[in-house]
Amino acid sequence: MKVKCLIIGSGPAGYTAAIYASRANLSPVLIEGPQLGGQLTTTTEVENFPGYPDGIDPFTMMDDMRRQAERFGTQFVSGIVTKVDFSVSPKKVIVEDEQEYEADAVIIATGASARYLGIESERTYRGRGVSACATCDGFFYRKKTVAVVGGGDTACEEANYLSGLCEKVYMIVRKPYLRASEIMQQRVLTNPKIEVLFEHNTLQLTGEGKVQGADLIYRKGESDEEIRHIAIDGFFLAIGHHPNTELFKDYIARDAEGFIITRDNSTQCYQSPITNDQSPILPGVFAAGDCADPHYRQAVVAAGSGAKAAIEADKYIKSL
Ligand code: NDP
Repeated sequence: MKVKCLIIGSGPAGYTAAIYASRANLSPVLIEGPQLGGQLTTTTEVENFPGYPDGIDPFTMMDDMRRQAERFGTQFVSGIVTKVDFSVSPKKVIVEDEQEYEADAVIIATGASARYLGIESERTYRGRGVSACATCDGFFYRKKTVAVVGGGDTACEEANYLSGLCEKVYMIVRKPYLRASEIMQQRVLTNPKIEVLFEHNTLQLTGEGKVQGADLIYRKGESDEEIRHIAIDGFFLAIGHHPNTELFKDYIARDAEGFIITRDNSTQCYQSPITNDQSPILPGVFAAGDCADPHYRQAVVAAGSGAKAAIEADKYIKSL
């Protein structure tokens, strides 16, 4: 099937791109992917997206965005993109190994996934005390005790943010030092509400129906190894995110972490491999949202970049 504009991903970036592309008469097709609504649907309530003064549950918000795109003519396809070929024009996108699309412009909005530790109880308590986003969920833990896992800049930032809301914040750090930048380390180490538990790993979370505690192991494998228990109400993962961009690696440039590199102030992608700042643009391929954003990871920012991508795709298509 030949289309003008194909959008991959159904988070705020993908749906916003679809709203703009359909209003520009590009009749976009949006491939919805494995997690309808994207990462946002892993949180409990959205309170920081402008326009919802009383907050909104993420499923309703994403469904609203989807219906808004549908109203202007976006066509939705459920399935996973299994292969792309961006070496040709129009670009080729294959869904579930069988449906082939040819598109003048492709907008990649595949998002990023939070890393989890991989312990069983993390899944058991997801949405019931386990979160990977302090900015999204911290508010529900006002005056409570929480733990943040990780020792990088994100973990320090989240611990500091949570210390403004919570009674106490533990940081569970597997090494005897923090990996974060000096300034972030100082903020954490001088914050009286934060207690850093160095050389601790999480064994399991405990609680009746929700997180009430965590069993940790101190100095695993050493002669002074010890199992310790902390009482907590919330458990925040901050051990990094991985962008969902593997599929595109042969065609578009990504940074060392896998985030898509876009041109300054634009959503245009560069050809892979990137050699220097002069690496050529890959015409007709645009990236929006968390798959190209290692910094903000906010729905409103993703939505904004989705709008930019659609405007740029429209301009590109009109130039053909
Ligand atoms: P990082 O990769 O920098 O840090 C991840 C942290 O999680 C490390 O402390 C790591 O431990 C720990 N970790 C990883 N896996 C596990 C595990 N299985 N069990 C326990 N701990 C684990 O990720 P960030 O998200 O913090 O940062 C990503 C990038 O974004 C960095 O370059 C960072 O500097 C940047 N950033 C900058 C900010 C700013 O400038 N304000 C804010 C946020 C991020 P270990 O050290 O032992 O490997």
